[in-house]
Amino acid sequence: MRHFPIYLDTRGQSIVVSGAGECAVAKLRLILKTEARVIVFGPNPAPEVVQWARAGRISHHARKMAQPDLAGAALLYAANDDPALDRAAADAGRAQGVKTLVVDNLDDSDFITPAIVDRAPVTVAIGTEGAAPVLARKIKADIEAMLPPGLALLARVGQRFRTAVAALPEGRARRDFWSRFYFHAGPKAVGGGEAAVEQALTGLLTGAEGAQPETGHVHFVGAGPGDPELLTLKARKLLHEADVIIHDRLVSAEVLELSRREAARIEVGKIPFGPSWTQADINALLVEHGAHAQVVRLKSGDCGIFGRLDEETEALQQAGIDFSVTPGITSAAAAAAALGVSLTRRDRNNGLRIITGHQADGFADHDWRALAAPGEVAMIYMGKAAAGFLRGRLLMHGAAPDTPVTIVENASRPTQRVVPATLLSLEAALADIAGPAILMLGIATQAASVQLQEVL
Ligand code: SAH
Repeated sequence: MRHFPIYLDTRGQSIVVSGAGECAVAKLRLILKTEARVIVFGPNPAPEVVQWARAGRISHHARKMAQPDLAGAALLYAANDDPALDRAAADAGRAQGVKTLVVDNLDDSDFITPAIVDRAPVTVAIGTEGAAPVLARKIKADIEAMLPPGLALLARVGQRFRTAVAALPEGRARRDFWSRFYFHAGPKAVGGGEAAVEQALTGLLTGAEGAQPETGHVHFVGAGPGDPELLTLKARKLLHEADVIIHDRLVSAEVLELSRREAARIEVGKIPFGPSWTQADINALLVEHGAHAQVVRLKSGDCGIFGRLDEETEALQQAGIDFSVTPGITSAAAAAAALGVSLTRRDRNNGLRIITGHQADGFADHDWRALAAPGEVAMIYMGKAAAGFLRGRLLMHGAAPDTPVTIVENASRPTQRVVPATLLSLEAALADIAGPAILMLGIATQAASVQLQEVL
């Protein structure tokens, strides 16, 4: 991000515009939305400039701008529609230490003004770093459609009542109050104007002040394999509403980014073979927060697959705390999608095993004979460290050494890698796999299965 979006306080500041023609007018329309003093320099002013000067909205000097004119200015717009004049203005700006924007010249500018959706005090700034103005306009139009003009009135009234609403208990009660105002009572009243909106808010407030904060709840939510677009809509909604988010190490940063900024985030990572939270600590944490807060317990993939869901729900049940479970896309499904293949296939496997390479007390034991049978398909989670053991057991029980085992590392993430292997080459193929990986026993990449058919 070369250009960092910030909101500049313009109250009591002055903004200088070098140029008074059409090009300056376009910028002035935007600048006039601010509370700054606006000073325009340039001979031959456009009619709008004359009009605004007459109305006292800007001051206009019918001459070229000079460096001393910039004393104390917060921003300078070089909008002369003339590269030589703009350059001279920008040089003056730089010499005076005033942040300068040269119209249509990104490289000579210190800042850019974004496309703005104005529902002040709600404003949305859209920037593409100059790369795609067409895209910025489209996004602006979409956001404008999303934010009805009445929103400005709601937000203004809301802003005035912030202190009164601060009397409500912090957290869920207050958030519920605001969402009732912004999404139900407020929009209904907006047609009646400011007085009606105020009345709606006061009505809500008197009704809500006595309301008790709700009791806590733990939402177990499957975060999917990493790509935030693979979250369910419900997971997204819960992330927006949570007070506390307790998540595993494997939950991606992009998914966490979707949570409410004010929510407390606690990582209870279990680093394989490393230091980690004990399950008892995690259970205690869930009980502690779940007693009074809206907790999202975010687990990678689906909560119900190698996620120790039952241990955590039992702890909550014992403590009398409500919970619910929102499913997620498990990493095996994402791995199959990465390959573009089906996990079941007529005439090959009409069943699918989901197994772990590892369990609490070491490598996991399985029905090796069944797993070694031709056409058998198993998705192996946590299988990296156990690969040598798995291979030994499967070969010992008669599996073909060239049985395909496709490795999918970081499924659905930008760092996703698909590594074709067989039982024989598995350990070597795993040597440089550092991220979480699914081992797909009995599933070949399309390229590998074509090769295999050619050999046969
Ligand atoms: N509940 C999770 C599994 C947790 S166990 C799920 O449903 O996916 C942790 C194991 O999941 C890892 O060792 C790895 O085998 C697998 N895993 C998790 N995220 C993965 C990803 N993005 N790509 C490949 N495997 C992943």
